[in-house]
Amino acid sequence: MAETIVITGANRGIGLALVQQYAETGARIFAACRHPEKAPELSRLAARTQGRVSVHPLDVTQPAQVAALAGVLTDTPVDILINNAGSYGPATPFGQTDEAAWVETLRINTIAPLKIMEALVDRVAASERRLMVNITSKMGSMGDNGSGGAYIYRSTKAALNAVVVSAARDLQARKITVVAQHPGWVRTDMGGPNGELDTTESATALRHIFARLTLADSGRFIDIDGSDIPW
Ligand code: NDP
Repeated sequence: MAETIVITGANRGIGLALVQQYAETGARIFAACRHPEKAPELSRLAARTQGRVSVHPLDVTQPAQVAALAGVLTDTPVDILINNAGSYGPATPFGQTDEAAWVETLRINTIAPLKIMEALVDRVAASERRLMVNITSKMGSMGDNGSGGAYIYRSTKAALNAVVVSAARDLQARKITVVAQHPGWVRTDMGGPNGELDTTESATALRHIFARLTLADSGRFIDIDGSDIPW
């Protein structure tokens, strides 16, 4: 049977490419984004799919909108939840970190993915696949941090990684696989023009990794080639 997939930040970048590719597989996709009315590519795709792709308003930091999405999914087992929405925040140098921006980025990159996993855990537990993917970044790796800086982005993705490991342990008994997945360095608004992959290449590699994940992989921090990234 075709998979049911929920993707956040589905209106552009890596999230949109994942929706496009999964739509071609015949999957049922709940594509969530902040402003559906300002998501023309996603809306056109949804219109072509006879209801297999539906678009839902979701600012991931808004609990009422998370609850509304969970409500839409009440009777729907969710095979794969992809927490993709993310923000880089301001990349200010040492001495200039903006506290309010840091807190806001923490809400988007760290707190929201956990709250969305909590809201949808029963739906994922009811599915065949039982997979929760959190799109993190290698920049959240302390072992890989050779260049410093990016305090806000690095710390909020490192905190997301900690969330993933705890959720993986807590949801093991329910046979739910939870991973932290790096998408590669990708040419998007966030990744910039010099990234190593385009969004199609990233989404293709991600889908291949996701297809092979089992409960034995739960709690891993995974690179775009499928290998482990140092914490
Ligand atoms: P983009 O900047 O192209 O897209 C970011 C997406 O996140 C947009 O859909 C944006 O929505 C959404 N988003 C941001 N804040 C919120 C919010 N509060 N509520 C809902 N959606 C929100 O980035 P990418 O596609 O490159 O990034 C996707 C993921 O991949 C992110 O988690 C990012 O950290 C991660 N990543 C990206 C890398 C890269 O090289 N590109 C490298 C490593 C990780 P809106 O249009 O409304 O702003």
